[in-house]
Amino acid sequence: MELLYKSTRNADKTVTASEAILKGLADDGGLFVPMSIPTLDVPMDTLKEMSYQEVAYEVMSRFLTDFTEEELKHCINSAYDSKFDTEEIAPLAKVDDTYYLELFHGSTIAFKDMALSILPYLLTTSAKKNHVTKEIVILTATSGDTGKAALAGFAEVEGTSIIVFYPKNGVSRVQELQMVTQKGYNTSVVAIHGNFDDAQTGVKQIFEDKAFAVELAEQGYQFSSANSINIGRLVPQVVYYVYAYAKLLQQGEIADGEEINVVVPTGNFGNILAAYYAKQMGVPIGKLVCASNENKVLFDFFTTGTYDRKREFVLTSSPSMDILVSSNLERLIYLIAGCDAQKNETLMTALKEEGVYSITEEMKAQLESFESGYATEAMIDESIKEVFDKAGYVLDTHTSVADVVCKQYKANTGDERKCVIASTASPYKFVESVMSAIDSKYDDVDAFELVDELNKVSGVKIPDAIEEIREANILHTAECDADKMKEIVKQILSK
Ligand SMILES: *Cc1c(COP(=O)(O)O)cnc(C)c1O
Repeated sequence: MELLYKSTRNADKTVTASEAILKGLADDGGLFVPMSIPTLDVPMDTLKEMSYQEVAYEVMSRFLTDFTEEELKHCINSAYDSKFDTEEIAPLAKVDDTYYLELFHGSTIAFKDMALSILPYLLTTSAKKNHVTKEIVILTATSGDTGKAALAGFAEVEGTSIIVFYPKNGVSRVQELQMVTQKGYNTSVVAIHGNFDDAQTGVKQIFEDKAFAVELAEQGYQFSSANSINIGRLVPQVVYYVYAYAKLLQQGEIADGEEINVVVPTGNFGNILAAYYAKQMGVPIGKLVCASNENKVLFDFFTTGTYDRKREFVLTSSPSMDILVSSNLERLIYLIAGCDAQKNETLMTALKEEGVYSITEEMKAQLESFESGYATEAMIDESIKEVFDKAGYVLDTHTSVADVVCKQYKANTGDERKCVIASTASPYKFVESVMSAIDSKYDDVDAFELVDELNKVSGVKIPDAIEEIREANILHTAECDADKMKEIVKQILSK
């Protein structure tokens, strides 16, 4: 049966999965959502014997029903190949009684690779299916990791070009170097004078600018998005939650049907929403624990029912979570509003115009599977040190946020269900913060010296992604003010 998609802000119009992937954002500014979340009608007993690629097919084929088996398998097998440094693709590491689902084994060493290595294939397949002849321009705002993963995915992909905007002083040294050294005739990287929210707002405004779209269409271009607002990013992320459960079962860590909790370090609410979709599909997930850094807008939302972005934006050691407007939360709001597009739109308009909205008690009652917590900078450092000292296992700063919140949750509730923590980045990517947390003698030491030191103390091989940028030339130096993004896009596309 065909599964169609709707915008969270329009009750009438439906599109196919491939149309939703092509467009990225709906014309009305809403996000595409499946009209229902499909049931995972394959037994865990079968899934547990499958490879990552096979599980990916079982999950994704339930969502992307207008892709043929051949098309989808081609996308999956092209994405999850030797670009990943392990055949397991997303291995589980057990430390004490906690399972870290390592989502950073792709080419840019953050979890964004899990979806962005397949998105270019989903998008070019969608373009073919819909007879699109224009060049697809991928506009992306990044808090640090999406940018590089999208650049790596789309570099030299025929019929596409990609423009990435990142906050000039809001990313780690390694993140910035990874982006500005990106090769490929169709890649552009621009630093903006502003934070991630400014970049994301700028991109959304360009998407909503109908006159600009017409102008560009005349020149042979159409926009799409590699941000997690694209359903083509969300669906591949559901896969690893199903896979993790199946592997725990296979390894005898859990019994069939036993509930597990999932803790996710959260920024734009994409990763944890994927876990929620997995739960809705039927994976025995108990609680979904949303972990924030000091930009704790989501923690406040889950505890009070009020989303309030009017607060100071804090630059933290987990920059990929430095976000005050969590785009994907809109998909959850839509669901708990009873899939009422009108109700959702009213709240989103309030957020845009007044910076705040509150949900009703009735809506709040539907958030019972969610728990939340947050970690301060000091707690993040402490947790990195503690896990390293105890087990020799090195967490990155983002994963450490989840680790802190996981421990808080267990202590506060006594919930003894097993916990899977989404481990979203390699510690090498945030080596300065990580090494300083382990020992203050590493403060002010050069990032690449620290890379060698991290290798020594952890025994974890230095990823190719790091070796590549040691010597690479800087190829992108463009900068602009946040309100000049449209002009820059025009300039880039007129070259
Ligand atoms: C993007 C990112 C996150 C946040 O994920 P969301 O889907 O935006 O909630 C967490 N950690 C790392 C390392 C990331 O790159």
